Amino acid sequence: MAARHVARGILTALNGTTGAGVLIALATRTKLRRGRHGVLIAEGYRLPVPPASCFTVGSVILTRRSAEWLLDEQRAALFGHEHRHAEQYAVLGPLFWPAYWAACGWSYATTGSWGARNFLERNAGLKAGGYPTDLPLRPWVVRGLSAIPSRRRRRGSPSPD
Ligand SMILES: [Zn+2]
Repeated sequence: MAARHVARGILTALNGTTGAGVLIALATRTKLRRGRHGVLIAEGYRLPVPPASCFTVGSVILTRRSAEWLLDEQRAALFGHEHRHAEQYAVLGPLFWPAYWAACGWSYATTGSWGARNFLERNAGLKAGGYPTDLPLRPWVVRGLSAIPSRRRRRGSPSPD
């Protein structure tokens, strides 16, 4: 295993997020399996929330499907996306949760999607995570941005947009 994956595993164990993931896996009666890069996969998740096929808590990826499904070569991009979230947990620790919810709120308010402007989802890869990549900003955001005077914009020069 690459040193980077070992470091991620140690950090998410120490900051408690993997413990939280294992507790959720046990409490929801999923089956814990060995994944890739030292990540655990909790398969057979059944609760309606969150409404995604996979989500990650520390170094644990919880999925409604099976570990085989997620580890299939065809799902390499999705696994990579969830694995990137595990790396975010290594850096942020429990602060991942408030950061994630704030990012979801910002994204939803500005685009109507939880992921499109969510910096943690963008960092993990929008396309791999199944999020729209080209959503326009809502009209109030565009109006707000155009109301901000730009120092770079001078009379007669073309708009930077
Ligand atoms: Zn994601």
